[in-house]
Amino acid sequence: MSQGHTSPGRGAESYDVVVVGAGFAGMYMLHRLRGLGFSARVYEQGSGVGGTWYWNRYPGARCDVESMQYSYSFSDELQQEWDWSERYAPQAEILRYANHVADRFDLRRDIQFDTRIESAVFDEVTGRWAVTTSRGDTVQAQFVVLATGCLSNARKPDIKGLETFKGPVYHTGNWPHEPVDFTGLRVGLIGTGSSGIQSAPIIAEQASHLTVFQRTANFSVPARNGALSDEERGAFRNNYPEIRRFAREVARNGIYTEQPDRGALDDDEETRRAKYAARWERGGLTFMYAYNNLGLDRTANDTAADFVRGKIAEIVNDPGKAKLLQPNSHPIGTKRICVDTDYFATFNRPNVALVDIKTHPIEEITASAVRVAGTDHEVDALVLATGFDAMTGSVARIDIRGRGGQTLNQKWAEGPKTYLGLMSAGFPNLFIITGPGSPSVLSNMIVSIEQHVDWIADALGSLRRQGLATMEADRDAEEKWVAHVNEVAAGTLYPQANSWYMGANVPGKPRIFMPYIGGVGVYRRICDEVAAKGYEGFVLQRADQPRAAAS
Ligand SMILES: Cc1cc2nc3c(=O)[nH]c(=O)nc-3n(C[C@H](O)[C@H](O)[C@H](O)COP(=O)(O)OP(=O)(O)OC[C@H]3O[C@@H](n4cnc5c(N)ncnc54)[C@H](O)[C@@H]3O)c2cc1C
Repeated sequence: MSQGHTSPGRGAESYDVVVVGAGFAGMYMLHRLRGLGFSARVYEQGSGVGGTWYWNRYPGARCDVESMQYSYSFSDELQQEWDWSERYAPQAEILRYANHVADRFDLRRDIQFDTRIESAVFDEVTGRWAVTTSRGDTVQAQFVVLATGCLSNARKPDIKGLETFKGPVYHTGNWPHEPVDFTGLRVGLIGTGSSGIQSAPIIAEQASHLTVFQRTANFSVPARNGALSDEERGAFRNNYPEIRRFAREVARNGIYTEQPDRGALDDDEETRRAKYAARWERGGLTFMYAYNNLGLDRTANDTAADFVRGKIAEIVNDPGKAKLLQPNSHPIGTKRICVDTDYFATFNRPNVALVDIKTHPIEEITASAVRVAGTDHEVDALVLATGFDAMTGSVARIDIRGRGGQTLNQKWAEGPKTYLGLMSAGFPNLFIITGPGSPSVLSNMIVSIEQHVDWIADALGSLRRQGLATMEADRDAEEKWVAHVNEVAAGTLYPQANSWYMGANVPGKPRIFMPYIGGVGVYRRICDEVAAKGYEGFVLQRADQPRAAAS
């Protein structure tokens, strides 16, 4: 059933569903669509599956949600048979896993690699999308699913002279497939978010000298990574039904961990420090789960932030460097908290320098140096760990035209607008997986991906059973959802940070808090209720009904 066909008179291949992207979202979407008997074609600009894990091959790249949880749950056989080697698997292993899934579920025959989707145009007469590829083909589809990823559009910084640099320039989000050897080289690393923090310790071990250019000091907690034993894997495998249920329905961020039942100010200082110390020793993102009000109350948050700043001062020998590495510009957790292996200790190495580019931004990159405050820092190679145009960047690069020829970029000029992060009014039958307005990047993303894919698959199945042709977000429901997303964010400390959640890392991008912060459990219940009420807030139409715009 998943074979497309050529429709007489259209002169183009035609599918029930076109899926854009073959990361974890696109792969699982294809699997579900096939199971329902829809014809589907996936287009992927890369030459292989895996998305994030195909592109981000930089030294030290690994997940920061534990692998036993950062993995698909849709197939019990799969989760029972795959052996994760470490608590946080490295990039190469996660990519192997993605390839294993593609083989095991025979996905490749419906994925076209090395093909970008350039545009998608909705035809109001036929009710179908015309999707154009980078190879110049146009295919027809009733539905389009954007599985294009939240962190897939690598952002190259606009620094004067960057193109004049004579040595190699690497972006962490688009790393070469061949090994990069920094032995004997002086390396400049620009950017100290998650990718910079993961790669600095490894590059420092190899390079003759590493200069880290830091604009924003970020909070990072130790990973405490290590090999997983059979017992540790077994503890997850034997309890997967409960662990996965908890991650989906109870946890705010899709991660199974004890939920705090008290606020930071409910404990005295000694107890508080002991709790933070225990979480620090255990390692990982759940540091922020020491208390239930760290994202809500600034005074409470300060106690956790002070603890981490204290740890940085303990680890880093040079007090000047330690001070520079201590984050002070935002509450802890309001920018993506990083998980590292020896990041702060790396600055004790004699071959590592730290340059503050907040006080004095980079003036220029010359043929052989990065110039800051009149000083040339000589380097042989540059690593840009400058992140992504997050959440909307990859969607915005596709020319998407809905009703009345309106482009999605026009509609989102002041910030993304969606209903539930799944659809945008005026763009019928176009779905987004982990789109803005859903928990997405604030969660264990595989949990959110599976939830969205299942919801979309159920919706398509329901449309077909009822003989309905189009589904579209109602404008009123969308407005209310956008207001709700903003209201929930405004009740937290998150908007206080200039983060990529806010679009603040991209000059000119509207400052809107994009993900839904209400928690994955709450969000799932809302989506399920919407579906149970016959897709409340969506307009569903038969093919022969007049195609009036959704109210
Ligand atoms: C370094 C790094 C570490 C991360 N670690 C974690 C973690 O530990 N836990 C976690 O929950 N999340 C993590 N994430 C987030 C990660 O992106 C998601 O977990 C998940 O992999 C996203 O899957 P996806 O399929 O939605 O998107 P992606 O994996 O980004 O895949 C999208 C695919 O779409 C393709 N594409 C985009 N536009 C087009 C187009 N126009 N035409 C054709 N193809 C297109 C891209 O090439 C890409 O392959 C991390 C992200 C990064 C960058």
